[in-house]
Amino acid sequence: MKDGFNREIRYIRISLTELCNFRCRYCMPEEGICKKRHEDMMTEEEMLSAVKVATRLGINKIRLTGGEPLVKKNIVDIVSKIREIDGVDEICLTTNGSYLSKYAKDLKVAGLDRINISLDTLDKDKFRYMTRIGNLDDTLEGIEAALKENFKKVKINTVLIGGFNDDEIVDIASLTFKQNTDVRFIELMPMYDGGDFGKEAFVPYSIVIDKIKEAYKGKYDDDKIIEKVSGDNNSVAKLYKINGAKACIGLISPVSNHFCAECNRIRLTADGKLKPCLHSSCEISIKGLSEAEMVEKFREAILSKPEKHDVLSYKSRSKAKRNMNEIGG
Ligand code: SAM
Ligand code: SF4
Repeated sequence: MKDGFNREIRYIRISLTELCNFRCRYCMPEEGICKKRHEDMMTEEEMLSAVKVATRLGINKIRLTGGEPLVKKNIVDIVSKIREIDGVDEICLTTNGSYLSKYAKDLKVAGLDRINISLDTLDKDKFRYMTRIGNLDDTLEGIEAALKENFKKVKINTVLIGGFNDDEIVDIASLTFKQNTDVRFIELMPMYDGGDFGKEAFVPYSIVIDKIKEAYKGKYDDDKIIEKVSGDNNSVAKLYKINGAKACIGLISPVSNHFCAECNRIRLTADGKLKPCLHSSCEISIKGLSEAEMVEKFREAILSKPEKHDVLSYKSRSKAKRNMNEIGG
C-alpha cells in the first residue's frame, strides 16, 4: 500500500521485546527499564496476526528487533511461524549477537534470511563500557556462528560515536576484507532519553570516507581507494567498497542527511503500537484487536506517515517519546 507521499510501504520492523541483556549508553538507562505489565504487551498471536495483516497490505519484508530479540526463549519458533505466513518474502533479525552462537543454526533452519549484528568497537574494555554489561567475545563468536550458516546476508551495524569509536573506523571497516559482512556506520541519533552525549559525539557519516582515504593514501590513486557501488534498493545505506575488499561499507545518515523520501517502513512496538515514523510521537494501538480491526489501523498508520521527520541534532532530540529499546531500532 502507498502512503500519502506515494511511497510504497513494504517493510515492517517488529519489536519482540523491550528487554535486553545489554544496557547500551545510547539506547537504555543503566537501571534497565520499568518492566510493563505482561497484559499490556503484545501476545505472540497478536504479533502473528499483525504480520498476516501487513502482508495483505503489500508488506513483504519483516525485521525482528527489540530490545534484544534473542532474549525471547521461543525466538526460533517465532521465526518458523512467520515463515509459514503467505506473502512474507524476507525475515531479517537485528541483534547484539551475544546469543547468536546458541541460535544461529536453528534460526537458519527456521527460515531466517538475514542478520544485522551490532558492533560498535573491537576493544573489549570499550565494548564493556558502551554496553555496560556485554562481552565483546560473545558478540564476535555470534558473528562467526552466523557466517557459518550461509544466511543471505550478515551485516555489522556500528553506531558512530565521536570520542568513542571514531579512532576505530578504519579497523572496523577493514572487517570487509576479512569476511563477507557489509559494515554499516550509522550516525548516533539523539533519542528521547538515550544517554548524555555531547555535541562531539554526533559526528557525520562523511568522516568514514575521510578516515579511510587518509589511511589508504598512497596505496591507490585517491579516487580508487573507496568507490560508490549500487546495491540493495531496499536499503537506506549509501554503499561503498574499499579497493580489494570482499564486502561493502554502508553509510546511514539519519541526522546529517535524512533519507525520509526513500522510507518504505513502519514499526510495531512490543506493546502493540504501530509507529508510522521512528522520530514522531504518533502511535496507533493494535493491542487486543481482531485481524479485521487491525487492517483499518494499519491503513491509518501508513496514511499517517509524515513526509519527513524534524531535523535532529544533539540539541534537538527525537520527538518519539521512547528510547530505542522501546521502539525497536
Ligand atoms: N538489541 C539489538 C541490537 O542491539 O542490535 C536490536 C535492537 S537495537 C535498539 C537496534 C539498533 O539500534 C542497534 O544497531 C543499535 O546500535 C541501534 N541504536 C540504538 N540506539 C541508537 C541511537 N541512539 N542512535 C543510533 N542507533 C541506535
Ligand atoms: Fe540492547 Fe540493542 Fe539497545 Fe544495546 S542497542 S541496549 S543491545 S537493545
